[in-house]
Amino acid sequence: MTRAYSYACRDCEGMEACPASMTTQTKDELWQLMALHAKLAHDENAADWDQDTRDYLETLIKPVSV
Ligand SMILES: [Zn+2]
Repeated sequence: MTRAYSYACRDCEGMEACPASMTTQTKDELWQLMALHAKLAHDENAADWDQDTRDYLETLIKPVSV
């Protein structure tokens, strides 16, 4: 089993209808995928995320074993 990090977009407030979820080995990689997904699916620029938004998203990242 490998430790990994998982993020499900529907856990985010206002994104309940989004089916996307992603799991990566490192948090760094997960943040990059979250940013890419935000851009592609929600036309949101991760560079505009303020610290509060990042803190909130951080609470949605779950450690998992795969
Ligand atoms: Zn989404």
